Amino acid sequence: MPISVIHVSSEVYPFSKTGGLADVLGALPLEQTKLGQAKLGQGEGASMSVISPWYARLGGSLEPEGAARFQVPGMLESSEVGRIVQDGVTYLFIRQKGFEGPELYGLTNDLERFVFFCKAVPYALEALELCPDVIHAHDWGSALLAALLRFTPVPPSLQGVKTVFTIHNLQYQGRWNPWDVLSWTGLPASLVNPEGLEFFGDVNLLKAGIVYSDAVTTVSPTYAQEITTPLFGEKLEGVLMRTQREGRLYGILNGLDMERWNPRTDPYAPFDTLEDKVRVKRELLRDLELGDRPTLGLVSRFAEQKGVDLVIEALGELLEDWNVIVLGNGDIFPERVLSLLSKYAPGLHFRQGYDEALAHRIYSGVDAFLMPSRFEPCGLAQMISMRYGTLPIARDTGGLRDTVRPDIGFLFPEATFASLLEGTNAALEVFTQRPQEWRSRMEAAMKLDWSWKKGAGEYLELYRRLIAG
Ligand code: ADP
Repeated sequence: MPISVIHVSSEVYPFSKTGGLADVLGALPLEQTKLGQAKLGQGEGASMSVISPWYARLGGSLEPEGAARFQVPGMLESSEVGRIVQDGVTYLFIRQKGFEGPELYGLTNDLERFVFFCKAVPYALEALELCPDVIHAHDWGSALLAALLRFTPVPPSLQGVKTVFTIHNLQYQGRWNPWDVLSWTGLPASLVNPEGLEFFGDVNLLKAGIVYSDAVTTVSPTYAQEITTPLFGEKLEGVLMRTQREGRLYGILNGLDMERWNPRTDPYAPFDTLEDKVRVKRELLRDLELGDRPTLGLVSRFAEQKGVDLVIEALGELLEDWNVIVLGNGDIFPERVLSLLSKYAPGLHFRQGYDEALAHRIYSGVDAFLMPSRFEPCGLAQMISMRYGTLPIARDTGGLRDTVRPDIGFLFPEATFASLLEGTNAALEVFTQRPQEWRSRMEAAMKLDWSWKKGAGEYLELYRRLIAG
């Protein structure tokens, strides 16, 4: 039987993006559609939609067409849903009060905005006469939907719909006081208990997704294990352990959009052969006014998770042997320190901000890519760098463990600057002493298949199992 799935997410590439979540939503439904089309003959097609907020400034080349107006019970103003159909995937955008600005998050009323987004989703689907078999929600911004579908009156077309919830990052949970959430949503007060929505006196939106969805997935097998332990569980390890015992917790490795990240067709720094990659590096170093030396790159959000502080701690030693190119923004302290240091340290180039073009040039042009994450649910940057023959030097955790093979990249065990330096020194030794081995590692890295095919198939299989009951 063909199945119909609605992904719900606060971001989707190319329309909105702050991180890897958008990349996943930009690639997974496309691959699922392709897989579905390939199996249409066997009656196993898949119709995929993505629903997300209609932010003021949407990326991409198309504008959504207004498709329907609808009323959410309890709200004074009506809302609108717009539609773009692209490559067989339907993208739906809810235009609603609170989403008029360009910013996705970081407003004082973030929680409120996304609670109301979740509330609107069932009514938008009803207005469009969509009756999905599965609603697949992603991260805290759409986590409350599972509880709303179970415990509040929803359109009849959605009764019995199966729910999947994917945790892309356990650290962002969305906590709010129970009284507001109950009054905004009409959820029963009896749910505010430790087995339900309650979390240290608050309501925890992410926990709602975990407790009330039919299946919970996260984005790599190792992270699926890690989050059931106190070290990585962000105080949700108890509920996640229970989810695992109930057989509802799965780890499905993310894939990569292999076309968007393709060295041959890269719009900013293309190369065909490894000799040609040398040219890309030369041009990058010339433009950034760096000398001809082994070169490390880092492209990242600046958040504690990503360990940029460890790179800063190790910078004195690193700069003795390497150029270091850092692109990123976020926490103010690493931003300020790196800005200052880059004025005085000749081997360091720091670009503060979000810069798609420079990110591509770094992946393509540097020798090795740093990912000193304290935890990493999956991580895309290490896959991207390998696609460009750039060897990752990464902390041995989560999705990094599942993707960085020791015969290709370099894993280091601890989130400390000393351990990071062990990793970079191991890499430097191969780079300088055994160039032939480095080259073989590059060749092996570029042959790896990170496509979404496997992951997309695993999700489709999970949907089918849930529907079959
Ligand atoms: P996360 O989703 O935790 O931020 P991932 O490694 O899964 O980390 O994905 C990060 C994505 O965002 C990658 O595509 C990376 O290239 C991109 N990215 C992160 N920071 C920047 C930046 N400052 N400029 C351009 N792209 C960035």
